[in-house]
Amino acid sequence: MHTEPLDGRIRRDVRVEGVVQGVGFRPFVYGLATRLGLAGRVGNDAGGVFVEVEGTPAGVDAFLTALERDAPPLAEIERVTVRAGKPAGAGGFTIVDSDGSGPRRALVSPDGATCDDCLAELADPADRRFGYPFINCTNCGPRFTIVRDVPYDRPNTTMATFPMCPACAAEYSDPADRRFHAQPISCWDCGPRLRLVDSHGADLPGDPVREAAALLRGSGVLAIKGLGGYHLAVRADDEVAASTLRARKHREDKPFAVMVPDVETAAALCEVDETAAASLTGRARPIVLLPRRGAATLWSPAGPSPEPSPQPPGPFPGPSPGPSPFAEPVERPPVAPSVAPGNRRLGLMLPYTPVHLLLLAELGVPIVLTSGNVSDEPIAYDDADALGRLSGIADAFLVHDRPIHIRTDDSVVRPFLGRESVLRRSRGHVPDPVRLGPPARRPILACGAELKNTFCLVKGRHAFVSHHIGDLENYETMRSFVTGIDHFTKLFDVRPELVAHDLHPEYLSTKHALEMTGVDLTGVQHHHAHIASCLADNGEAGPVLGVAFDGLGYGADGTIWGGEFLLADLVSFERLGHLAPVPMPGGTAAIRQPWRMAAAYLDAAYGGRAPQGLDVVRRNQAAWADVLTLGRAGLNSPPTSSAGRLFDAVSAVLGLRDTITYEGQAAVELEQRADPAERGAYRAAISHGRVLLVAGADLVRAAAEDVLTGVEPGVVAARFHNGAADVIVRTCEILRDSSGVSVVALSGGVFQNLLLLGRTVGGLNASGFRVLTHVRVPTNDGGISVGQAAVAAARDRLAVTGDG
Ligand SMILES: [Zn+2]
Ligand SMILES: [Zn+2]
Repeated sequence: MHTEPLDGRIRRDVRVEGVVQGVGFRPFVYGLATRLGLAGRVGNDAGGVFVEVEGTPAGVDAFLTALERDAPPLAEIERVTVRAGKPAGAGGFTIVDSDGSGPRRALVSPDGATCDDCLAELADPADRRFGYPFINCTNCGPRFTIVRDVPYDRPNTTMATFPMCPACAAEYSDPADRRFHAQPISCWDCGPRLRLVDSHGADLPGDPVREAAALLRGSGVLAIKGLGGYHLAVRADDEVAASTLRARKHREDKPFAVMVPDVETAAALCEVDETAAASLTGRARPIVLLPRRGAATLWSPAGPSPEPSPQPPGPFPGPSPGPSPFAEPVERPPVAPSVAPGNRRLGLMLPYTPVHLLLLAELGVPIVLTSGNVSDEPIAYDDADALGRLSGIADAFLVHDRPIHIRTDDSVVRPFLGRESVLRRSRGHVPDPVRLGPPARRPILACGAELKNTFCLVKGRHAFVSHHIGDLENYETMRSFVTGIDHFTKLFDVRPELVAHDLHPEYLSTKHALEMTGVDLTGVQHHHAHIASCLADNGEAGPVLGVAFDGLGYGADGTIWGGEFLLADLVSFERLGHLAPVPMPGGTAAIRQPWRMAAAYLDAAYGGRAPQGLDVVRRNQAAWADVLTLGRAGLNSPPTSSAGRLFDAVSAVLGLRDTITYEGQAAVELEQRADPAERGAYRAAISHGRVLLVAGADLVRAAAEDVLTGVEPGVVAARFHNGAADVIVRTCEILRDSSGVSVVALSGGVFQNLLLLGRTVGGLNASGFRVLTHVRVPTNDGGISVGQAAVAAARDRLAVTGDG
């Protein structure tokens, strides 16, 4: 190291943009600069973090290198700009107060799971936060769910009503402390309090965690206030409790998620590979959908409920990776049949708040943790509302007095081909932006779809995708859509000038867009948006052959699409092929009753002479003829090319599902039933014309023939999946020949089906295609807003108007 002359001091003015507030960035800068003997100051402003640093050129260089390399774990640096300045000859290094003036560009960070340092303190009897249910620091804890405004400072959060005690205040203002400027900092003396209350809100005696665990042990249903909303919990091994919860929640079949204390327990229940382990233990702590161990036994007739195996309360949780609270080796803890009936997969998550950690340690067994709502309502997050809505479901409430500002559901992911693939992007991910390729010319609002709604605000390269809003037909959900847009607009200082929307005139999101004044509008066809969301997810612009398979989407011709082959880029698309349309007898009734789709498809497959020996015909004999009449006459029976309805039809033909209780159930159970070892495939004809027509009815007929000859349903289900994948590949091959495009993007809710997705990707790769699939953006309608935003941005660069 060479010596610098004393007068060789240099000064740099540094600006850091990205997720740099509320993540310990200023203390990190302070520590770094102090260690290197540099002078200057650091502060937050509405644009991010600014640093003025001066010292020797070597010192300043070392500082600039380490600034990005060693940034704190929750920080996400977008851009660092460095300008030379004139040394001021200042002495020390200081942290200055937030400056609320200027344009708002700072990014708020997502909520993060309790970090290892906090875990260690939580378990340490000598620590002043031993057992404190709200322990957090600059590296972990609540963020997005408590932020009311920017800049991210305590008065702008729901912690504003908790004045710090002297000990917390000292840590908060000590640059050397891990909690320096940790906005949600608190302790036993000054922070939120945990309470256990009855269904009238009256306090129950005793230690809240211990009493809550006792209630669960006795088969009770417990409501727990989490980070982004209320959950309902029962012991995962308790069939009585699990079926009680189902009955009270009016949730008949949809699987519950299970919270397990650690990866070891997860691995005892499900197959956990490296990707899954990383998802489970990551800061976002999503629900991870995983293949269950011993799934083959699921199809035996329901046996007696497993004996509840009382286990002693586990020891206190240690920092991970550490010893499991369970005695090793970990045995497979029983999961009650009602938790995920007939499902080969299980949604698992690890504790992400100190309350969860304390409760699981006290109880010693995994718990069901499902959203606190009745049936399809949005998850409760407001205390009074939760008590009102959940009092008929929960026997007691484990609550606290830190308000949740934004309702945020758990995220849902799954491993696919060695990567984490996001199915619901919410808590732990929001509001981290999705990066678009080239920047948008103007601020954009994309209003998203009707079901699984998210909206998206674009500013420059950043697409701020909202938390999972839900199904807009519900008043409460529609309200959070509107207030959510308002909140994001404020948080990111985006005033949309261009608004993208679906073409469906009845979507409430479309109506919202059309009612906005003083903005330009651009309509994006539903399946074009799906393909564009996949392109944006992969940082590509197309053109691609887009295969969009989903439930229902409004077509550019006013009919209902859903089994589409598009030649698409971010600006526009051409419909080159689709499933041959069949009527949906009774309209929306056909969505709830898949047997109606079986009737329509069998009618098409057999030219009006469907074999009467099929069980599905017998089971629905009373209404069968009427439904056929409806469909043939086109009375309240809109034609659709939907792939989702094709899967429904086959599910009914196999006798799996004549009616459903949740969206996509028939297709989910068809996939679950398929024998993965079966390689046979049904063959569907493709008729060549100006537009390719894929005969989905061929697949239904082949399935019906196999059912009639007594072929095992698991084999039929597999041959159908293989046949669907095969016809996708053959259609893409024809389109490659005609278009010269050899990249395929797969999108739409039907591709949540891993068997179909895996077979399709395999077939396309074998045929020499490059295949794009979803990673960070959901393949279902939760990704539509991102696709709309990407299309709007691309059109705005070219000044092109909408689809259709
Ligand atoms: Zn921490
Ligand atoms: Zn305190």
